[in-house]
Amino acid sequence: MARKAAVIGAGPMGMAAAYQLALDGVTPVLFEADDRVGGMTASFDFDGLTLDRFYHFHCVDDKPFFALLEELGLASRFIWCNTKMGYWFGGRLQPWGDPVALLRFRGLSLVAKFRYGLHAFINTKRNDWRPLDKLEASAWLKRWVGREAWEVLWRPLFEFKLGRYADKFSAAWIWSRIHRIGRSRYNLFREKLGYVEGGCFTVTEKLRAEIERLGGDIRLSSPVRKVTIENNRVAAIETADGVERFDAVVSTVPLPFIPEMMPDLPEDILEKYRGLENLSVACVVMKLRRAVSEYFWLNISDPDVDLPGLVEYTNLNPLKPHILFAPYYLPMGHEHLNETDASFFDKTRAVIRRINPEITDDDFIGWRVQRYTYAQPVETPRFPESLPPTRLPVAGLWVADTSHYYPWDRGASESIELGRTLAREVAGFLAETVAPATGNSEPAP
Ligand SMILES: Cc1cc2nc3c(=O)[nH]c(=O)nc-3n(C[C@H](O)[C@H](O)[C@H](O)COP(=O)(O)OP(=O)(O)OC[C@H]3O[C@@H](n4cnc5c(N)ncnc54)[C@H](O)[C@@H]3O)c2cc1C
Repeated sequence: MARKAAVIGAGPMGMAAAYQLALDGVTPVLFEADDRVGGMTASFDFDGLTLDRFYHFHCVDDKPFFALLEELGLASRFIWCNTKMGYWFGGRLQPWGDPVALLRFRGLSLVAKFRYGLHAFINTKRNDWRPLDKLEASAWLKRWVGREAWEVLWRPLFEFKLGRYADKFSAAWIWSRIHRIGRSRYNLFREKLGYVEGGCFTVTEKLRAEIERLGGDIRLSSPVRKVTIENNRVAAIETADGVERFDAVVSTVPLPFIPEMMPDLPEDILEKYRGLENLSVACVVMKLRRAVSEYFWLNISDPDVDLPGLVEYTNLNPLKPHILFAPYYLPMGHEHLNETDASFFDKTRAVIRRINPEITDDDFIGWRVQRYTYAQPVETPRFPESLPPTRLPVAGLWVADTSHYYPWDRGASESIELGRTLAREVAGFLAETVAPATGNSEPAP
């Protein structure tokens, strides 16, 4: 009988880990709290349209993602697009994202444009992020681009996306975002972003089928309550259905869940998990009869708008009616998160009509609000020092989330790569330490 391992969380990281385990001859049992796979990439039925819960696009550097598409026979479903970026500033829509747009941008001095452009160029070319790891991002940016460009171009993003953590993020984390987008281009003047036909659903469904075909077991609506540790070895997993013994466990759930799920871990490790902070997101998803703008990504710098940008997804993936996302990031527990879905919709509608007054009430066909509590770890300078390692000092136990690929921002490709890496470590561990055949179940106490 094959060796067996538990994977907790069926987002991209957990699914990739389960898939790799199955490829490596280990039977994965994948526990997912939600009623569907995908995590942040999960899909929902938007009045007949299967759509990603949150917008997803891909860049040229997403190589682990492309490798997986190839393996799953989905490479032909991936489409590249020459997307456009825009800026709402000074009461007008302006093109953005290339040197000509920067030069023509209305509302910035030539010196500010030059400093901003130089900084973006250098950091697109730069590969060594380590010197930036110890620096705080807002101070780093102000020093490079100057006060004027900071105020107009960066401050709104920091204020509305990072909130009270605006002066807490590391410069390496911001660098990774500039680097990823800056490199994803056909040439200096044309941006290049991509999507999968059918959205993330195409990938998660194929991955799910592959895991099952290879003998894996996917258990939806099965939140793990506890991971038991005995004699410094991982021992069992407890869910509402009972207690099941495993020789290896990989958790891919957001790290703040770990102290409650693994109370037997050493106190110094639990302390580190407890110290981690996150941003939550409430993301308005809309169907519109017509386009708001020609831009896929629209940055917003407007003192009367508390939103850093709109993502007009139809300008990447030509879905009709028009699909638009408005992500509101807020520190966990922030009072605005208690606002109703209708309130988030109302204020987004007002922003859209401010930007394009020709849009009428009739143009809004439908809307939803998608929420995620642990949507973005707060990645501070020297962030790796605040994280326990992915392989814990407990035999057979691995714990990771999107924080572990710092300085890279959360991304499906990065989660897939890390999930597969963890799975290979697990398979090696099981091959060395466990005779094939394991897995007894007993009812929950
Ligand atoms: C608004 C937004 C936009 C984004 N846009 C992009 C983009 O354009 N491109 C891109 O590449 N990435 C994007 N991302 C990021 C991408 O979605 C994430 O990096 C990726 O999904 C992380 O995958 P993960 O598996 O590491 O974590 P998650 O997706 O968070 O998965 C964790 C899973 O664990 C499950 N879980 C939690 N507790 C338990 C429990 N007790 N038992 C069992 N299961 C549990 C959760 O239900 C979840 O399914 C975006 C994210 C957001 C929020």
